[in-house]
Amino acid sequence: MSVRENKTDVIVVGAGPAGISCAITLARAGKEVVLIERGMFAGSKNMFGGAIYTSAVKEIFPNFETEAPLERRTIEHNFAILGENDSTTITYRKDYNVSYSVIRGKFDRWCAQEAKKAGVYLVDETVVRGLIKEDDKIIGVKTELEEYYADIVVLADGVNSLLAKEIGLRKDIDTKDVALSVKEVIKLDKETINQRYGLKDNQGAIVEIFGGPMLGMLGLGFMYTNVDSVTIGLGITLNELVENNYRPFELLDKLKQHPSVAPFIEGGTLKEYSAHLIPEGGYKKIPQLCDNGVMIVGDAGMLVNNLHWEGTNLAMISGKLAGETAIDALNKKDFSKKTLSAYEKKLKKSFVMKDMYTYRDLMDVMHIRKKAFLSYYMKKINAFFEMFTSVDGVPKKEHYQKFIKSIFTDRGIVELFKDAWAIVKLLWSILL
Ligand SMILES: Cc1cc2nc3c(=O)[nH]c(=O)nc-3n(C[C@H](O)[C@H](O)[C@H](O)COP(=O)(O)OP(=O)(O)OC[C@H]3O[C@@H](n4cnc5c(N)ncnc54)[C@H](O)[C@@H]3O)c2cc1C
Repeated sequence: MSVRENKTDVIVVGAGPAGISCAITLARAGKEVVLIERGMFAGSKNMFGGAIYTSAVKEIFPNFETEAPLERRTIEHNFAILGENDSTTITYRKDYNVSYSVIRGKFDRWCAQEAKKAGVYLVDETVVRGLIKEDDKIIGVKTELEEYYADIVVLADGVNSLLAKEIGLRKDIDTKDVALSVKEVIKLDKETINQRYGLKDNQGAIVEIFGGPMLGMLGLGFMYTNVDSVTIGLGITLNELVENNYRPFELLDKLKQHPSVAPFIEGGTLKEYSAHLIPEGGYKKIPQLCDNGVMIVGDAGMLVNNLHWEGTNLAMISGKLAGETAIDALNKKDFSKKTLSAYEKKLKKSFVMKDMYTYRDLMDVMHIRKKAFLSYYMKKINAFFEMFTSVDGVPKKEHYQKFIKSIFTDRGIVELFKDAWAIVKLLWSILL
């Protein structure tokens, strides 16, 4: 600490990927940074699917592939559409190193230890209760016991950022803009996992699941392989759960019992159960990300690319860019909104905001046409493959004609036109 008691250059609230990346960037540049985490240790409160992405992690921890506690290197992505008792799966397999499955309790803890080695002052088991404002500027944070002061405060407190709400940068979350996710970690021995998923050594697989118990709802299921466990879960927007009076763990039970899913987890024992929110609002729900003396990073800024299941990479890069902006501001001794807005400009130039912008219309389209895209066409894909693989003495041409006719009769020409138009509009906004 310098200048006055409890005063430092930067306070970062939340030791998830965003907060740690921001703090370590500052510490490596010789700045004083205090990282405050409410959990017993970094990662203890955090859960995800999940996979971390090599390119982003390397920017913060260049040697992580040999030093960090990783589970498996992803070599297979499966996209499975579940019907009532059937499924269609597309598999992409390549021996590359785009992502690794990790257990956040271990991985975040390792990242925090690296941050400490770089000079970050980590305060854990401490909840930030509020922000301290003087005139128009954030000048510190209040914890249960103390007040800490800083030139800049970075909010990395996750999806439900109460602190961003307190200073008016975020509104109450609309239930349409977050998904509630539940997941189980199921213990299985390594050999069984390798056999069931067709893997060897530390190779891993990801299964993204559409339909099944989530049919017609804005929700997805997932399975990830760890060294000696499989993570299975699902996330559904909160408004769907409330409107339909669904209990997420009941939907997860149904998913686990689906005939195309059950064999992958059969015989396993439940190791862990957890729940967490995921930002789902997309580009249009990103709040203002800075003000005098304060910046917002990661989930707190709703920076999640939900189509690609990317969150940790956006969190890490936003944290790094906020850290770099804070370094410049400290060098200039100017902590105004104008100076800190360089962070938003850096984000806009990076893949983070470019990707968020690319999918800016996705959620609107999905909310309006979910019954079509997340129910009707899902069922139709399975129906097509059932027809295509049937051998029943009926000429193939008759099967095709019946199948195509059924689309026109079930869906109707007007709805088909609206579906096609929605796809064209969406592709237009994605590609142009
Ligand atoms: C089910 C699920 C699956 C996912 N799968 C993937 C995936 O496969 N790949 C991927 O890249 N992303 C995935 N994500 C998203 C990813 O987990 C998040 O985008 C990422 O964790 C965001 O990092 P963050 O640092 O912004 O927030 P978090 O990881 O949420 O960290 C916030 C931290 O702040 C702390 N905190 C909160 N409030 C306070 C306070 N007042 N005082 C002190 N500390 C506080 C919390 O304890 C926590 O440690 C998934 C998310 C979920 C829920």
